Amino acid sequence: MLPNRAIYGEDHEQLRDSLRRFITEEIAPHFATWEAEGIVSRTLWDKLGGAGFLCPTVPEAYGGIESDFRMHAVIAEELAYSGYMGPAADVSVHSDVCLGYLLHHATPEQKARWLPGMVDGSLVCAIAMTEPGTGSDLQGVRTKGMRDGNEWVINGAKTFISNGQHADMVIVVTRTGEGRGSGNMTLIVVEADRAGFRRGRNLDKLGQISADTSELFFDNVRVPVENTLGGEGQAMAILMSELPQERLIIAITSIGAAQKAYDITCDYVRERQAFGKSIADFQNTRYRLAELKTELTVGWAFVDQCIARHLKGELSTYEASMAKLWCTEMQGRVVDACVQMHGGYGFMREFEICRLYADARVQRIYGGTSEIMKELISRNL
Ligand SMILES: Cc1cc2nc3c(=O)[nH]c(=O)nc-3n(C[C@H](O)[C@H](O)[C@H](O)COP(=O)(O)OP(=O)(O)OC[C@H]3O[C@@H](n4cnc5c(N)ncnc54)[C@H](O)[C@@H]3O)c2cc1C
Repeated sequence: MLPNRAIYGEDHEQLRDSLRRFITEEIAPHFATWEAEGIVSRTLWDKLGGAGFLCPTVPEAYGGIESDFRMHAVIAEELAYSGYMGPAADVSVHSDVCLGYLLHHATPEQKARWLPGMVDGSLVCAIAMTEPGTGSDLQGVRTKGMRDGNEWVINGAKTFISNGQHADMVIVVTRTGEGRGSGNMTLIVVEADRAGFRRGRNLDKLGQISADTSELFFDNVRVPVENTLGGEGQAMAILMSELPQERLIIAITSIGAAQKAYDITCDYVRERQAFGKSIADFQNTRYRLAELKTELTVGWAFVDQCIARHLKGELSTYEASMAKLWCTEMQGRVVDACVQMHGGYGFMREFEICRLYADARVQRIYGGTSEIMKELISRNL
């Protein structure tokens, strides 16, 4: 079970309860189909929006419920704890990652254009930083934005883009000046119906397979300069200000999913028998579970501290990096130990722990790899 947490109030717990019901009714029955198809159904987005689970911090003026970040945290941890990491990742990229760019850096006109649709699920959002030739090294982005009068003309390719198949709008990191300088990069919103925009393959992944992840191509895509987000040359500054929330959310999903792995493993080892007793009766099993429970308990405390600091606007880049680094690595340790305690069944796809193991791997890679997290933390020693 997810632990009781002092940072949450009654309204957060109500949201949690209604999301749990939603997961049971609207996600669980369809999840196997979505995994087989490598993508959730588009209607899930409409249902999530209709039920109020998308972009909860959006002001009422733009259709939201104007809550604070804790609603995002509750939604992320519940979806992760459900074990349905595909939908969890989809929602998180849209609500927890993309939304911040619009909420904090869009003009009032842009907010009026895009936020209501993001709240009701009619506009699915993606963010495209990574390219075939560059990922960790963001300043190596080659997708080009050239000014032509009142328009940007965009050319290039992105890859590994979450929500790439469903996206109605993509926040694209483009190079709008010469050379690697951070002032030469600009965020431009590209609507998916613009001429020259093309989706590539829905990529075949190890885990989180119902989360669509795609290549995207831009071939002389023209968008008005009004689609510039936060001003020309501001991309790196904006990314730096928004990445801490992305990293904190990944930490939250990691610990939620790790808690799930731990809980189902406790149930499994109590039932499974060997040498005339349950696996849970072996001292090794109890000690291993004791270690995992300790890791989880320590992790929740740090995550809660980070959530509290983020609420006050005080979460620093290096703290968010520590949360992501530690929680995603911890999730890796937990799921690995849990597979081991399942024996051969842990390797079988029909067992939930097998999926949790596969889904966990990418948490140490996207949103900045563990190595990049260490690099960021080491700058603040
Ligand atoms: C399922 C999935 C979803 C994703 N979703 C999105 C998305 O929605 N939008 C988006 O823009 N991107 C997305 N990504 C891309 C993801 O953010 C990148 O894969 C990640 O940042 C790593 O970049 P890379 O794959 O190019 O690896 P590389 O940068 O090539 O790194 C390869 C290895 O070198 C290491 N390395 C690189 N630089 C250093 C360094 N300075 N010091 C030490 N080690 C280093 C890395 O840690 C890694 O181990 C997604 C990826 C996946 C797998």
